[in-house]
Amino acid sequence: MSKGVLATDKRGVRELGAEKKVGWDEVPQGVVLNSFDDNVDNLSHLRPEERPYSDFNSFTATVASWRVIKPVYNRDICIDCQNCWVWCPDTSIISRDKQMIGIDYDHCKGCGVCVEVCPTNPKSLLMFTEAVDNEEALSGWPEKKKKEKK
Ligand code: SF4
Ligand code: SF4
Repeated sequence: MSKGVLATDKRGVRELGAEKKVGWDEVPQGVVLNSFDDNVDNLSHLRPEERPYSDFNSFTATVASWRVIKPVYNRDICIDCQNCWVWCPDTSIISRDKQMIGIDYDHCKGCGVCVEVCPTNPKSLLMFTEAVDNEEALSGWPEKKKKEKK
């Protein structure tokens, strides 16, 4: 795992190298947001935390306050299939070297798609209200469901 890339259970506080996260309600109306200030050649191979983002862009702005429910991730069950990473509409699943690391709670909007596509039994991602502590959610994780006999 790269240094500084950690998925936390707190909303809006995970840092991927950005100095500061701001909410979208702090963006002046009509402003043009440039993603990068510097040369943008050959950036595609860089991880998000290594890219030279401008001070104010969709990466440094958080949408955490939009969410009322959140996905919680259970590493113990995950098989690293990457389904959640492929389907998340906000690229808020953090995966490194084909290993699922966690949720980017700064940008996740709580749509629940990742939970729907998770194939494990029980699921490795489940939705909880924002008020639920992640450790608490993990401690009450459901057991494996047995297949019904036909
Ligand atoms: S809840 Fe939606 S936005 Fe959040 S990580 Fe899952 S798929 Fe992505
Ligand atoms: S879809 Fe489920 S099993 Fe697959 S990587 Fe995501 S959390 Fe893990």
